[in-house]
Amino acid sequence: MMAKLSRELKAKGVSVVDLSLGEPDFRTPQHINDAAIQAMNDGYTKYPPVAGYPELKQAVCTKLKRDNNLDYTPEQIVVSTGAKQVLANVILSLINPGDEAIIPTPYWVTYASLVQLAEGVCKFIPCSIDEHFKLTPEKLEAAITDRTRLFIFSSPCNPTGAVYSQAELAALKDVFVKYPEITIISDEIYEYINYTGKYESIAQFPELKDRVAIVNGFSKGFAMTGWRLGYLAGSAELAKGCEKLQSQFTSGANSIAQRAAITALTADIAPSLEMVKAFKEREAYFITAMQSIPGFKINHPEGAFYAFPDISAYFGKSDGTTTINNADDFAMFMLNTAHVTGVSGTAFGDDNCIRFSFATSMDQLEEGIRRITAAVAKLA
Ligand code: PLP
Repeated sequence: MMAKLSRELKAKGVSVVDLSLGEPDFRTPQHINDAAIQAMNDGYTKYPPVAGYPELKQAVCTKLKRDNNLDYTPEQIVVSTGAKQVLANVILSLINPGDEAIIPTPYWVTYASLVQLAEGVCKFIPCSIDEHFKLTPEKLEAAITDRTRLFIFSSPCNPTGAVYSQAELAALKDVFVKYPEITIISDEIYEYINYTGKYESIAQFPELKDRVAIVNGFSKGFAMTGWRLGYLAGSAELAKGCEKLQSQFTSGANSIAQRAAITALTADIAPSLEMVKAFKEREAYFITAMQSIPGFKINHPEGAFYAFPDISAYFGKSDGTTTINNADDFAMFMLNTAHVTGVSGTAFGDDNCIRFSFATSMDQLEEGIRRITAAVAKLA
């Protein structure tokens, strides 16, 4: 909706600083584009196998060993049309009507919509900014019932940038081992965009590994959002279920994108690391600048490319014409008064916050900060 309103403003000639984007502002690395062109010329333009080309599934296994020290075999991998389809496959495979899925908030909006599509019940666990938006084992255990079948989270998290440490994951694991009927969806799409130095997956615990569905893809780490390619790593049984579902919905993911993805995974990932370096520099500027805006309470994200400030200090305040009562009002005020787009936290299950993306140029970020600062100064 914000994107649409922002386009309408732009069409009227207004200069809008767009901080609502959920994708890298970088181009796909050239060697990956070249591999796609080569694939077309080599004839990879026919239906691919439903679960993905064997070479790509093998490349995913090699990547999981190289980056995560995890052992998977190709029959445990399913390649899909974006991480989003991986999530849809897993959730629709596992959730029957009335089954419960535990989702810590803030969360990526698609999780809840897919659970609802499967006629499951979302059990949200609020995690506040004071908890660094992370779930504790006590809160997890309190939310589990005999209908709980799924737990869904992302680390690094969209929208908060929270990254779970190994110790934090181990503490959650100690709870999950007591409840063998729960599958854990670990959304690792922002794996490379991680400022902590080392990536930790909850699949690293052998007691849990078979019950973890790793969801990952090419959109964020390789700047390949438009290619629509993601993958599942999970138990062979889950992979079989996902393959079955996918064979009727869409068949195999785009053949050309799959061939290019083999190159993405097997070639040097230096271009991805360069991109992450740029995000880290912007993060340092953007978060510090945001901390000095009055009324903004903000954590340093440890991954992804979003700031998620708590702006509830402005609830009840007005610029004389508009009163801010919630995060949706604040987002609209930002658009109409500052001409800056963000995404209201309501979309992510948090009514006190707003998400601003720093996946844009430093110039735009500086201009965004100037405009936001000037706009909130009008609120009293
Ligand atoms: N998971 C999270 C947390 C995301 O933020 C996104 C994209 O915004 C996705 C999954 C979907 O990724 P894909 O483009 O591979 O479908």
